[in-house]
Amino acid sequence: MPMALYSSNEEIILSGTAVSPGLVFAPVHVIGRGMIAPDVYEIKEYYVSNEIDRFKAAVEVTKHQLSDIQKKIEAISGEQEALIFEAHLMILQDKSLHTKVINGIEQRLQNAEFVYYAVIQTYTEAIRRMNDPYLSERAVDIEDVAQRVLRNFISAEPEQKAEETNPEHKHIIVAYDLTPSDTVLMDRSQTLGFATEQGSVNSHTAILARSLGIPAIVGIPDAVMKVRSLTHIILDGYSGKVILNPKPETIKKYRKVQRNKREREDGLEELKESKTQTVDNHRIVLSANIEFDHELPLVERAGAEGIGLFRTEFYLLGGGEIPDENRQTKVYSDVAAGVQPHLAIIRTLDAGGDKLPAEPLPEPEPNPFLGWRGIRVSLARKGMFKDQLRAILRASVHGRLGVMFPLVSGLKEVIQAKDVLKECMDELHKEDIPFNEKLEVGVMIEVPSAAIMADSLAKEVDFFSIGTNDLIQYTVAVDRVNKNVSSLYKPTNPAVIRLIQMTVDASHDNGIWTGMCGEMASDLNLTPLLVGLGVDELSVGTHQLPKIKKAIRSLTHSDCQAMSKEALKARYSHEIYELSQGMAHDSYHFLID
Ligand code: PEP
Ligand code: MG
Repeated sequence: MPMALYSSNEEIILSGTAVSPGLVFAPVHVIGRGMIAPDVYEIKEYYVSNEIDRFKAAVEVTKHQLSDIQKKIEAISGEQEALIFEAHLMILQDKSLHTKVINGIEQRLQNAEFVYYAVIQTYTEAIRRMNDPYLSERAVDIEDVAQRVLRNFISAEPEQKAEETNPEHKHIIVAYDLTPSDTVLMDRSQTLGFATEQGSVNSHTAILARSLGIPAIVGIPDAVMKVRSLTHIILDGYSGKVILNPKPETIKKYRKVQRNKREREDGLEELKESKTQTVDNHRIVLSANIEFDHELPLVERAGAEGIGLFRTEFYLLGGGEIPDENRQTKVYSDVAAGVQPHLAIIRTLDAGGDKLPAEPLPEPEPNPFLGWRGIRVSLARKGMFKDQLRAILRASVHGRLGVMFPLVSGLKEVIQAKDVLKECMDELHKEDIPFNEKLEVGVMIEVPSAAIMADSLAKEVDFFSIGTNDLIQYTVAVDRVNKNVSSLYKPTNPAVIRLIQMTVDASHDNGIWTGMCGEMASDLNLTPLLVGLGVDELSVGTHQLPKIKKAIRSLTHSDCQAMSKEALKARYSHEIYELSQGMAHDSYHFLID
């Protein structure tokens, strides 16, 4: 059913899933699905016929364009191929759609392109809700045509246009979905937060929002339809609420919440210099996850003991061409020097999946998460892989660096990756370029086959780091970014807990250590379980790090061990979760929101 936008001054609360904490208050900038939302502005009544004419003119221009394309395609590829444009022309000239747009302009007194956009959105939303793959394709066709019409509106705007529509101003993005690259490319000086219809806690978009410190909410049904550009909203990245047109008393209430949160977080800064150890003196290394080298000051401020995961793909693939060996050497050297004497672990490129591909693919992959990603790409693109490994080796003289390979599924890949590393070392020797011969080498345990083979892998490396974001997805066969199956995505799934235990045991039996850098490590409710399972290092986002430190310092290792033993016998996710959560609440309820 068509859905109305909320009127301009009603206070409305929309709910989703909070994925990145923080509170912000600003006007909205809406980004629709597949189509760029045009700005909206009110028109005077005497402008109505002018707006209707603009709409008709845009349709007319589009009609000529589509007919021309149709003819060209017919000449090149034949009649059959050109039929799609016949369908596009029918969509363009659909009588009921035209009536809706004209009535909309008359009744809403809004500019033609926005009314057209809103009508198209109601159509495509209704079609998509039917969940029929054939009809979903038709929604894409409709958007295709609509995008063309929107581009053909004559752009001279009357002066009523609101000035604040300029997204150069500080704003909160409300979007159907954002890709990790959209998030990386966001103008952070202007974008205070974002809310999307799609997405999940473990998507890279959400992880990036946390590391960039941008409050974010995902999974708000029909957000794009319900919110319009320029509406003022509060985005509460703690509770997952978006409040449209908040009343003065609501703003006051949230300002107070914001002050309290800040005070609480400032209190944790005192812990910066203290050790991460339990009440009975069991040490855990607490390090930070980063995506960009400019996060280094945050790592220091949070009191991290090193970097447990530098996801290099956003740095390498975020800005056009992949930086060459020299430019990479500079960045990794800064990271090494920035955290010394602690260890900084550089993870080699993890392209693919829901992240950017290393190169344009000839055709889309049917199952990107099971496809060309992680170490598979690096091994297939040896030149690119060697540039990165040589840069890491050259940087290793500036501090304590480690290298880690992502998405390893078995021993062969580890041996192959180590061979390439050895080749780089030999070259540097010949070139008389210094590096640390004892560079620590690790693998991520994020594929069940790697966890099961951990005893073999442990003989080849210096450490493991468990990537629970992927380990859960591959163990339970649940797409980490698909909200339709998110109820199955449980870090405490007994199968996942057993794989973690197997990994930890295999590492200790072979004299190496195991860390965890997936998002599970940031969940305060699960800290007792991870400490009890014997994980040696936790690597978390800088915003969460002080809280995890405080949590560990409130726990008793022997109690955690006893509880984890019980957890390993449990048959259901919720039983394991409740055991750990119970201990977390008893030990530091004041930290958990
Ligand atoms: C993981 O899978 O847990 C992990 C840390 O890697 P990423 O989230 O980058 O896939
Ligand atoms: Mg991963």
